[in-house]
Amino acid sequence: MRYSNSEKIYEKAVKIIPGGVNSPVRAFKSVDKTYPIFVNRGKGSKIYDEDGNEYIDYICSWGPLILGHNNERVLKGVREAIELGSSFGLPTKMEVELAELVCKCYPSMDMIRFTTSGTEATMAAVRVARAFTNRNKILKFEGCYHGHSDSLLVSSGSGLLTDGYQDSNGITEGVLKDTLVAPFGNIQKVKEILETKEVACLIMEPVPANMGLINSSKEFLQAMRDICDETGTLLIFDEVISGFRVALGGAQEYYGITPDITTLGKIIGGGYPVGAFGGKKEIMDMIAPVGRVYHAGTLSGNPVAVRAGFEMVSHLLENRETLYKELEEKVIYMTDSIEKIAKKYDVPIKINKLGSLFTIFFSDLDEITDLEHVINSNTTHYSIYFNTLLDNGVVAPPSKYEAHFVSVAHTKEDLDRTLEVIDMAFKKIG
Ligand code: PLP
Repeated sequence: MRYSNSEKIYEKAVKIIPGGVNSPVRAFKSVDKTYPIFVNRGKGSKIYDEDGNEYIDYICSWGPLILGHNNERVLKGVREAIELGSSFGLPTKMEVELAELVCKCYPSMDMIRFTTSGTEATMAAVRVARAFTNRNKILKFEGCYHGHSDSLLVSSGSGLLTDGYQDSNGITEGVLKDTLVAPFGNIQKVKEILETKEVACLIMEPVPANMGLINSSKEFLQAMRDICDETGTLLIFDEVISGFRVALGGAQEYYGITPDITTLGKIIGGGYPVGAFGGKKEIMDMIAPVGRVYHAGTLSGNPVAVRAGFEMVSHLLENRETLYKELEEKVIYMTDSIEKIAKKYDVPIKINKLGSLFTIFFSDLDEITDLEHVINSNTTHYSIYFNTLLDNGVVAPPSKYEAHFVSVAHTKEDLDRTLEVIDMAFKKIG
């Protein structure tokens, strides 16, 4: 049986770990599987499961592996760092070097703080925004995901949407009432909410990628910038996915709009656990030990993770002229070809894409621009797509609410093999 070892591991896992996984989307529930594959290792564009099956990987750890699995340069750096020690609970030189490097790529950040995850980065960013503005409420967009801190698990995307709900249980009414929500793209609604002047920050994915990829625009982001300026609200760009991916300088560079605070994750750890938040000096000076907004972490700025991040970001910076263009060309090649296959079998799809990200929506709408469009896209077709790919050695995101991630390591041969398998999937659907 193709997946028998994964099945056996799952049987043990589910008895001791809720759902058998440590993050819900990994369970493959919404794509009609009773258990996920358990991964043994990854190299380049490929991962290998516990049954020895090889897959071309389009999850790429949900984004950070823009250079592919176990990139040689990152691996070399990690090996050197591990030799020096695992963690000290004291500062290291490499934290400062990574901080300088990231701030060089993000001129909106005068200063930066490292965390261990994107969740911690957004949680701390919201806290500092509340302290800076002396306001309690925050505003987010429906279907955007900013990690799993209480304030941000409202009308959320990603795994919650995948499992058919948007608000987590276990959050107090007091917290819920301070998180306001607007539909992505609705300028009027944002204006109405922010004009109350009770809102500390608007936190947004400048390019939403946790309800599938939704296209953004300079005009919309500029409107958000203007309304925030007019109402004394801080603008937080959560670039945990878009950072270093849609461009070296993230969506803020791509669209030319400057936030007050930026949150980053994933990529700046080169696949190891890192997150960060940063912004103008006067905002960051509120953080302890300079100010009294507390943020800390035993593993914040962990020496192995920041070394991995340093190698990753250095590589991206050194190769920025060609790397982003090549990634975009791969995605254009893939998405143009997928559209042709869809036409051949008369499968209604709409693809949203940006840089090295894309999502295929099984929908006959002309445009997918908001959460409702995504919810109404065909889940059964997505499941057939996912399962046909998996059974033929390609891993797509196990949810219609996520994006495909293309890496530098994906070769033309990988892309062509993927297209062959997509042909099989669309033939079944059509
Ligand atoms: N913000 C965004 C936009 C994300 O996509 C994610 C995770 O996918 C997070 C925050 C949370 O990051 P982490 O999973 O590292 O806590």
